[in-house]
Amino acid sequence: MIVVMKGGTTPEQVQEIAGRLEEMGYQVNPIFGVERTVVGAVGGSEHMKIDAIDQLRSYDYVEDVILITKPYKFVAKESRGAKSAIDIDGIKIGGDQVVMMAGPCTVESEEQLFSTAERVAKAGATILRGGAYKPSTSPYSFQGMGLEGLKLLKEAGKRYNLKVVTEVMHVRKVEEVAEYADILQIGTRNMQNYDLLREVGQSRVPAMLKRGMTAKLEEWLLAAEYIASGGNDRIILCERGIRTFEPYTRNTLDLSAVPALHSLTHLPVVVDPSQGTGRRDLVAAMSKAAVAVGADGLIIEVHPNPDHAIKDGAQSITIEAFEKLMPELQAIASAVGRSF
Ligand code: PEP
Ligand code: MN
Repeated sequence: MIVVMKGGTTPEQVQEIAGRLEEMGYQVNPIFGVERTVVGAVGGSEHMKIDAIDQLRSYDYVEDVILITKPYKFVAKESRGAKSAIDIDGIKIGGDQVVMMAGPCTVESEEQLFSTAERVAKAGATILRGGAYKPSTSPYSFQGMGLEGLKLLKEAGKRYNLKVVTEVMHVRKVEEVAEYADILQIGTRNMQNYDLLREVGQSRVPAMLKRGMTAKLEEWLLAAEYIASGGNDRIILCERGIRTFEPYTRNTLDLSAVPALHSLTHLPVVVDPSQGTGRRDLVAAMSKAAVAVGADGLIIEVHPNPDHAIKDGAQSITIEAFEKLMPELQAIASAVGRSF
């Protein structure tokens, strides 16, 4: 790290900082400029680095502390030679193929789930999505079918040869959801629920970590680091849009995050254009754009009758629209050297 001292700092103050850094285990190298002094420090413990920076910043005569290495380790691109592909019984997320996850926002009934699953599978989806435990902004809106919904998801997955991704909202539910799901989804509202992240880190079921709606890339990667540092290194990142000042779309889908993440981390990245736009008329175009910028997968809300969906009907596409979209995505995928 580099500690930048404020203008007019005395040699005693520089010495004080150097001494503090040495106490923390750093080798210290002050550089005295004409106007400013900076103190370079190397070799301290990775573990304490974040706290050390905080403490150093609290000195009145310290202008700034600059970290040279990344604050995350396990998820950093440099920690692996190559991009990770997460293999779920032969379905690889992060490999040459772009993976399609599709299904309703919320599991509503056996009929709704099975009719959707059958047709998205036929159209080429390999993973079934659907919420059994639903995070809701209002406590008075539908909270999901719970365990019954999990059972339906597992059955539908088995019947139509689909893997299942579904959300886990609470630490105490990780084991239960892991019994029925192939991927544990952590929703945007829980991206910084550190107890939940640690618990999922203890699981050996892959995790899909959605971006917090106000999270910076670094905060998102540090959230992934919570899971990875617990020993669960099968993590998929999901860009699902962020809050901006634009009300026309429900969120602003940040597609620049996809290539940016590919340069920062080895983890695969998927895109959710449904939560990302909140509008079914934009889902197809943003799906194509996501594949074009290098997304490793898509997660799309599909409903047999979106106008009657309990949740997120406005952003759910019909099964017919999904069937039409799949070959269009194949064309984009092959244009960027991938397959679908
Ligand atoms: C969802 O996938 O239906 C969902 C609630 O996602 P998010 O956490 O991104 O809002
Ligand atoms: Mn939804």
